[in-house]
Amino acid sequence: MCANDENESLADRVDATVREVLSEAIECDSGMYNYAILFNSNVSPDWYVVLFFRDGSSLEDSLENGFSNWVYRLLTGRLPRMCDGRQVRISFDAGPFPSDETEYRQLLDRHSVTFDPENDEEGRATVCIRCGHAFNPHRLLGGLGEKSYPEEGWMRCPEEGCYCFGTWSVGYICPPGLDGDGLRCPSKACYGRIAFVEEDPSFWGCGECGNVWFELEELYLDIEDISERHDYRDRVYVKTPYRVAPVVSGVEPADYDELVRKEWEVD
Ligand SMILES: [Zn+2]
Ligand SMILES: [Zn+2]
Ligand SMILES: [Zn+2]
Repeated sequence: MCANDENESLADRVDATVREVLSEAIECDSGMYNYAILFNSNVSPDWYVVLFFRDGSSLEDSLENGFSNWVYRLLTGRLPRMCDGRQVRISFDAGPFPSDETEYRQLLDRHSVTFDPENDEEGRATVCIRCGHAFNPHRLLGGLGEKSYPEEGWMRCPEEGCYCFGTWSVGYICPPGLDGDGLRCPSKACYGRIAFVEEDPSFWGCGECGNVWFELEELYLDIEDISERHDYRDRVYVKTPYRVAPVVSGVEPADYDELVRKEWEVD
């Protein structure tokens, strides 16, 4: 559990990180000019960082040309690790900056809402969990880097005035309808793989350590937690806003099992 004083020092660190990234962003003359950090344990265990743009058109430009994505990745790379699998969620806004407690609360409500996932028969998302609009018309955008095709990027909702933001990447295998199956087990020192077990109730389990998860979300939270602890753990998962999937096996660190086994010796 996070004690209250831990929350306070965490708030300071989150604030310092966002301030630092914002000052870099301001130099780029993107229209990003301010931020709000929102936390209310009655609403969500997560923290919300909302980055504000001067107006809708500068935010649209920034979503389109990848600037928002660049800021998002800078922040996720620098923000402190949260405990208990909680997350700092980053989003963008062009509305009026909140000026009193009610407006801060409304802003948090707006940015913490998620929509229930809905899938078609093949397991593809039909609704965007961020904005609630149909998922299919969302465009997947990406920068090219060194490859001739993008391997990761961000998405963009075509609805007017919608600024939902999420990132995506490729290189994962995930049989439709079998979310969670084949993932590396997130338990300490365990390098087993998760299997989906269709019983009543169904669950996800690791044959190696015997741990079970009855909710996919719980499994994802444990994955999030262990990924933040160890880089080699992070590298065996591909995370999109909708699911966590295993990387194709050739991409895992060669000494993965060895590194995981050593976790008994640390913390
Ligand atoms: Zn939308
Ligand atoms: Zn959306
Ligand atoms: Zn295990």
